[in-house]
Amino acid sequence: MSVWRKELITASLLLLSACIIGSITGAVFSALFLVTLFLWICQLLQIRRFERWISAGGKGIYPKTTGIWEEIYYHIYRIKKSDKRRKKKLRKMIEQFRQSTEALPDAAVVLRANDEIEWANKAARLVLGLQQSDKGQRIVNLLRFPDFIRYLKSGNYSEPVILPSPLNNRITLEVRVICYGSGLRLLLAQDVTQLKKMQIMRKDFVANVSHELRTPLTVLKGYLETLQDMDDDTSPLLTNSFKEMRGQTERMQHLVDDLLLLTRLETQQKKTQCIDVPALLGQICKEGDTMENASRRIELTLETAAHLYGEEQDLRSAFTNLLGNALKYSPDDSVVKVRWYQGKDEIVLDIEDFGEGIAASDIPRVTERFYRVENKRRSKIPGTGLGLAIVKHVLMRHEATLAITSELGKGSCFSCHFPLKRVCCSG
Ligand code: ADP
Repeated sequence: MSVWRKELITASLLLLSACIIGSITGAVFSALFLVTLFLWICQLLQIRRFERWISAGGKGIYPKTTGIWEEIYYHIYRIKKSDKRRKKKLRKMIEQFRQSTEALPDAAVVLRANDEIEWANKAARLVLGLQQSDKGQRIVNLLRFPDFIRYLKSGNYSEPVILPSPLNNRITLEVRVICYGSGLRLLLAQDVTQLKKMQIMRKDFVANVSHELRTPLTVLKGYLETLQDMDDDTSPLLTNSFKEMRGQTERMQHLVDDLLLLTRLETQQKKTQCIDVPALLGQICKEGDTMENASRRIELTLETAAHLYGEEQDLRSAFTNLLGNALKYSPDDSVVKVRWYQGKDEIVLDIEDFGEGIAASDIPRVTERFYRVENKRRSKIPGTGLGLAIVKHVLMRHEATLAITSELGKGSCFSCHFPLKRVCCSG
């Protein structure tokens, strides 16, 4: 029988007994009143007991009782017990998480709003020099690197920031921030000293090899030119061999020059000056027009006279590469449009051709070093695969971006977007 039914039967029996006794004694109402009062007092006492137990935290075994109150006590007891079990499990999980993050080789720091330190692991203490007592301190007061402070303030954590370790400046750290939860951020710092050393070694190696190859190549080219001059065209095999050898030497020389330029872009300090870009474009287009198969193909439109802060030699290389490609990868009788204009929040250079275009799958890869789109016709077009990598680097040094739109068979448009803050004179 259910508890509720039992309770109802007991109450009904009590009321019935009161009615019977009342009708015998002639005081039905008094008997009913007394029974109701009794039932009410009993419930009040039970509520008081329950209130005391629950306000004491509902700890331990519940008071002995019967009927519906025993059921209520039992349900609450059960809920509390499963809560306790869940809490224990969570505590264990948190402990395991803490132990695993403590064992991480990378420094991990949890930051609250206002850049305050919430928690840091062992590696953070070793690599970043943070102490247990730094909890609640603002991290920018402890890691006082301008680049780091700017990075943290920017709120844009898509790229990491490179810093020296505050404990040892020979250690290089790659620091990145990950946002999670409500207003919490996880700062991770990884020791990338070895990686940086290897990158520097690789760059040095490429620069040294390229530099060392320059002299033998010049000598080789000189001898080939002399031999070509001495050639009296009696042997077509010899004539063709000289031509091929000269072509390959020139290709090697271009490769070496491009590699040296890339190394310079990666390593050299920026030396900016105000550049008259319209005049520069005028010169480049004039030079382009005198190139083989390019006469009068270039249409230059200067819609703005804006000058830019930058490095003239580098911008010249980038623009020449883009224009050279537009001329190389389009038919000899098609036009190439060069447009210098002001956009919404930027100054833009568009170099548009109506050539064979680039497949959508190749577009993201053409700025990679040595990437050349495979194509029978193009394999005959000379190139190093380094031109667009140079363009990308030069634009990066000028806080500019390269956008490529292209359609196979219709042509391509390479746009260089410069921020307005780079404008030094509007003409
Ligand atoms: P390359 O010396 O081979 O021209 P780049 O880095 O300048 O090297 O260009 C990489 C590749 O991108 C080229 O090999 C070519 O396939 C493609 N490309 C570049 N510019 C154009 C263009 N204007 N039209 C079509 N393809 C192009």
